[in-house]
Amino acid sequence: MSADCLFCKIAAGEIPARRVYEDDDIIAFHDINPSAPVHFLIVPKMHIASMAQLEEKHAALMGRIMTLVPRLALEQGSQPYPEGGFRVIINTGAHGGQEVPHLHVHVLGGAHPWKHE
Ligand code: 5GP
Ligand code: ZN
Repeated sequence: MSADCLFCKIAAGEIPARRVYEDDDIIAFHDINPSAPVHFLIVPKMHIASMAQLEEKHAALMGRIMTLVPRLALEQGSQPYPEGGFRVIINTGAHGGQEVPHLHVHVLGGAHPWKHE
């Protein structure tokens, strides 16, 4: 855990969030300011600042996060592929539009989520 990191505090239960999934290594919760009818974040509990810090040792963790995406997207109300589907975004660094410096995967679903930006 990194001191004063918002998502570390959510992962530790120190700040409340509307959780959609949790295991020993991963937590997923609704975005507080949703950009689409379905909008949640999947977050490794381990503090990794962004995708820019990923190393080979993180491959299994990131693989698990990515394979959670379709399951949680459907559970949260996105419609099945191909008529439905979802959008995945990982903002990285200032140029990538990242605001919270703890790696997180945005999952957006519902009709035309890209129109809600
Ligand atoms: P970023 O721009 O870093 O990719 O996205 C950060 C996201 O975190 C934003 O979509 C923002 O709405 C969300 N967020 C910021 N603070 C909180 C919070 O305290 N709780 C939750 N659930 N989401 C947050
Ligand atoms: Zn953190």
